[in-house]
Amino acid sequence: MSFSNDRSVRSARVLDAVPTQLLIGGAWADPASGATFPVSNPATGEELARVADATPDDGRRALDAAVDAQAGFAATAPRDRYDMLMRAYDLLHERIDDLALLMTLEMGKPLAESRGEIAYAAEFFRHFASEALRIDGGYQTAPAGGARFLVTKQPVGPCLLITPWNFPMAMGTRKIGPAIAAGCTSVIKPAPQTPLSMLALGQILLDAGVPAGVVNIVTCTDANGVMEPLIRSGKARKLSFTGSTAVGKILLAQCADTVMRTSMELGGNAPFIVFDDAELDEAVTGAMAAKMRNMGEACTAANRIYAQQGVADEFARRLSTAMSALQVGPGVEDGTQVGPLIDDAGRGKVVDLVADATARGARVLTGGAAPDGPGFFYPPTVLVDVPTDARMAREEIFGPVASVIPFATEDEVVAAANDTPYGLVSYVFTNDLRRALRVAERLESGMVGLNQGVVSNPAAPFGGIKESGLGREGGNVGIDEFLEVKYIGISV
Ligand code: ADP
Repeated sequence: MSFSNDRSVRSARVLDAVPTQLLIGGAWADPASGATFPVSNPATGEELARVADATPDDGRRALDAAVDAQAGFAATAPRDRYDMLMRAYDLLHERIDDLALLMTLEMGKPLAESRGEIAYAAEFFRHFASEALRIDGGYQTAPAGGARFLVTKQPVGPCLLITPWNFPMAMGTRKIGPAIAAGCTSVIKPAPQTPLSMLALGQILLDAGVPAGVVNIVTCTDANGVMEPLIRSGKARKLSFTGSTAVGKILLAQCADTVMRTSMELGGNAPFIVFDDAELDEAVTGAMAAKMRNMGEACTAANRIYAQQGVADEFARRLSTAMSALQVGPGVEDGTQVGPLIDDAGRGKVVDLVADATARGARVLTGGAAPDGPGFFYPPTVLVDVPTDARMAREEIFGPVASVIPFATEDEVVAAANDTPYGLVSYVFTNDLRRALRVAERLESGMVGLNQGVVSNPAAPFGGIKESGLGREGGNVGIDEFLEVKYIGISV
């Protein structure tokens, strides 16, 4: 049997094993309508599987299951919740090969990146397992004496969790981990492009002993039709969303009616700033990481690369050399470093943004044209002299295109970097400590990478300001998003 045959046999086995129904109340179930929708491989366009297409009624059943399970789950011992999360952590590692293949098939990223994401996803379970044991409170005397303040934290209640397609597993565990740790039940709606990874995760949570109804999964094509009634029902107490700013604003408006708590991880437009005194090779490595992780399909992706005049040409040349050396191909193939984009619309946007920038005077150093053939491939591309009025300087590119913009002074680049409604992450490369800290403080973003191109870490508080979002995921504050503080005043 040839190697590629072996791979297709493995793919068929992995696809055959993944659940395709809804997870409601601890059991896999068909939607009331019996309807399904296709999941396809972005590297080939071929259909991989069909999964349940939930109706609003299915959504209601899932939320009812979460509501029914809430009180019992809130009463579990923190140590029991720790054990569940650690069993799920172990299972993610035990099944990492199959899960990585599944993720690459439905999402496109190279196998090595899928493995990396599953390890990263598992870390959220390990991190929040420990956080379950550290939910604290307080007892103090009122300033005037006499009364005592008892402060305790309680699970916020049933949660709605909506996740995107770009990190189909990690964006799930980043919400499910703290929800379980805090004692909250939930209904999860994954993106329709990549439901299989979440369904596989659902099976892992069942196998890890998470009680029936604690985690429910609803796959659907009509996101608004299924989720809006749940948001407006008053039965869910919290919405955690990762996705576009446009959809985030719609959801915030829906949540306003019941004053539902929200966590919002929305879009970004990350500036990546290289000063003249930076270690240039480190800056190139950092830019490659910040730009090319997930083929550029990340809200943390370097969207505008500002290089100071003294190094701009040399930096762009080295970046272009590194980008053009990357191997593009189906993520399942050995040696692939850049997989396809998620779908035709995703690639179409990249094509349009590049056409817009070049029409306004940007020059292409490498890449710049989508290939023919099946799959939604786009080559690693470097554009220089990108004018500030180019669409790609304002909008998320979400693809493997680096736009390099020269700058003269620190003040000028800080003003340009902050000239956006977004504020998720910024990257700064410099060897001057005082400048590094000064610029990091002046940048309007929730996170800053100093001489590093990756900031994501389950133990660090991830999140944005301005239109990039509300709240933080991970770190020692991540669990607070799923807890309410209750103060009990005591007369002694
Ligand atoms: P992207 O542009 O990256 O696909 P979206 O914000 O459209 O980002 O999608 C992120 C998630 O939000 C997906 O699970 C998607 O199905 C879901 N979604 C999109 N629109 C709505 C909506 N109106 N209500 C609830 N969920 C939605």
